[in-house]
Formats: sequence, structure tokens, C-alpha cells
Amino acid sequence: MTMTLPFLPFAKPTIDEDTIADVVAVLRSGWITSGPKVQAFEAALSAYFGGRPVRTFNSGTCTMEIALRVAGIGPGDEVITTPISWVATANVILEVGATPVFADIDPVTRNIDLDKVEAAITPRTRAIIPVYLAGLPVDMDRLYRIAEKHNLRIVEDAAQAIGSTWGGKRIGSFGDLVSFSFQANKNITSSEGGCMVFNNEDEARLAEKYRLQGVTRNGMDGIDVDVLGGKFNMTDVAAAIGLGQFAHLDAVTSRRKELAARYFALFGPDFERISGAQLPPADQGQTNWHMFQLVLPQRIKRADFMSMMMEKKIGIGYHYPAIHLFTLYRELGYREGLCPIGERVGRQIVSLPMFATMQDSDVDRTVDAVKSLLQ
Ligand SMILES: *Cc1c(COP(=O)(O)O)cnc(C)c1O
Repeated sequence: MTMTLPFLPFAKPTIDEDTIADVVAVLRSGWITSGPKVQAFEAALSAYFGGRPVRTFNSGTCTMEIALRVAGIGPGDEVITTPISWVATANVILEVGATPVFADIDPVTRNIDLDKVEAAITPRTRAIIPVYLAGLPVDMDRLYRIAEKHNLRIVEDAAQAIGSTWGGKRIGSFGDLVSFSFQANKNITSSEGGCMVFNNEDEARLAEKYRLQGVTRNGMDGIDVDVLGGKFNMTDVAAAIGLGQFAHLDAVTSRRKELAARYFALFGPDFERISGAQLPPADQGQTNWHMFQLVLPQRIKRADFMSMMMEKKIGIGYHYPAIHLFTLYRELGYREGLCPIGERVGRQIVSLPMFATMQDSDVDRTVDAVKSLLQ
């Protein structure tokens, strides 16, 4: 029976025909790098984020690196972040010459624990990079109270959180520097890309310089370079994809909420007790359900679970192993035991299939398979 079913991946982008036609039109237009489509995408995003300044970039990684540069963070500075994220979150801190300080996660939300953030603040702390894992925000009121009290910048790694809300407000429509990714597996994609929402136009203009070789243009034939920038601009090809995807954002978010509700209903109230696995925290309507993640019980090895699910033709992801245990970070002196909760979750967390074009029957099939292995 399972032999006849197609493989179910854990994530899958869907690009509609109108978007494909728009991309083709860009390719035929003679203007394929940053141009009118980038401007239109930035305008659409800015409107979505309540009129705040928005700039696009060619990844959600460089976006955060540039945010740190805009905030003037560099050697000698400490930046507090979570061990449970895509490694990009901590790499950008190293990239600007600052020191990542890992604060352990909350075992329920799997996000950085704000008590531990407060405990990790030193006179050298300049910023916090919180991550909204699977799209679930941290306690945003408390986060910004901490920032204000200790005079810290916040670079929100909202890579996974477009469409998520806090107290009814969209993530990105308030706060300090808010970074989103449009990498292929995110809720909406531009194939690769990202954007940053700013507090003010001055910082947005500075980020534009970091985005393109530090260049400022004056008049018809003048340019100057007064900061060291890189090459991080989004192309019109990518922006055309992003614009096409953006039109579906609300529908995508609602469909993901339905799929998550179906997962919860089918796992049922006894699943955690019987299996020893941990479901995601109950939804309070705030998450965009970028992922639906289980933490497996200690008795089962994640690699075994993944291969058994693979035999049932179901793709399982792992987001993420603890960053501070990677070789590069160990070589910098970070050690096992630094963040025990993150280390355990980093070994046992799995991402079940979750994408907007999934069928209800795909959820049913996944839950049956998980239950057959765990309870
Ligand atoms: C995807 C992602 C990034 C990096 O985004 P890219 O666009 O791939 O550079 C950073 N942090 C988190 C949490 C992500 O999920």
C-alpha cells in the first residue's frame, strides 16, 4: 500500500504560472538585475509592515550581517543568541568580528529563554538576536523591555516568521531591525533572498550602502564610496518570484494553520504521554506554522526515526543541531554542557512535513506513521 504513495517531502515551494510568466517577462525585458521589480517588492513589503522602511537583499544571512554593521557592532562586542537556529544566526556575529554568547532555550517554545538572556548580559553586550523558531515569536513585550533597560539593539532573526503576529501586530511591523528570509523552504520564497525592516530611513540608507560596495550616487555622473560594502543586492528575477509569492502569503498562512490544527487533532491529547515525544506548544494564533516539530523521546535515535519514516516515503527534517557544538564553534572554545536544553532538543528535534500545498491526507499519513513508530 505505502509502495504506491509518492514521496512526501518535509517542505516544498510552489510557484504559480502567473509568477513564472512574470519571471519570463523580466528575463525578456533586458533588465535582469536590481530594478523595477525590486522596488515594487520593497514597496509591497513596506506597506505590509505598516509603512516601515524595507530593503531587500540576496539572502536572509547577509541581511543580519548588515544589520549588525548598521548597529555598529564589531570586535569586542558580545551578541546574545540561541543555540537552536540555522548556523547563519551565529555566523553573522563572527563575520563582523563580535562574540556570540549562547543563552539556552525554553524547552516548551524551543526559543531563547529570556531569563537566560538577562543572566547573560555583561557590560560588553551590544545586541540580542532572537530567533522565532518555526515562526513562533518570543515574548516580544519582554524582549523589548530588556533591550530598553540595558540599552541593547535587537536584530530579530524572523527568517521563519513572515505572517506571524504578536498581540495582533505583524512581526516586522514594530521593533528594531527585523530580518526575513525568502530562501526556497520558507513560507514565501524568492528562490534565495531576504529583507530587512528598519526603524528609520537613515539606517535603511546605510544598509543600502553595505548592500552595494558602499556606493552613494550623486547626480548624473557622480559616485562616492565612504564605507566598505559588499555585493548583496536582490535581482529583479528573484523579486518577481517574491512578488508572486507575496500575493499568496495570507492564504499560505491560513492553510498552514489548518494543517497544524489537523496534526494536533490527529495526535490527540494522549500522544505525548504514550509516546514520550513532545508536540509543539499549543498555538495561540501567533505562529505562521513555518514548521511542525516534534522532540523525540531519548529512547529513540533521530537518525533511526528518519530512516524508518523514509521507508514510509515521508521526508523528515531536523532544525536544528545546537550551533555551539559544531567544529568551528568548539574550536573557538564553546563546549557541550553550555546549553543543556538546547543540546538535548538539538539532538532529538524533527520537522514533520509542512507546506501549503500538502493535502489533509498527507497529515493523516504522517501521523499514522509517527504513531506506528513511537507508541
Ligand atoms: C533560513 C534562515 C536563515 C538564513 O536565511 P538565508 O536566506 O538562507 O540566508 C537564518 N536564520 C534562520 C532561523 C533561518 O531559518
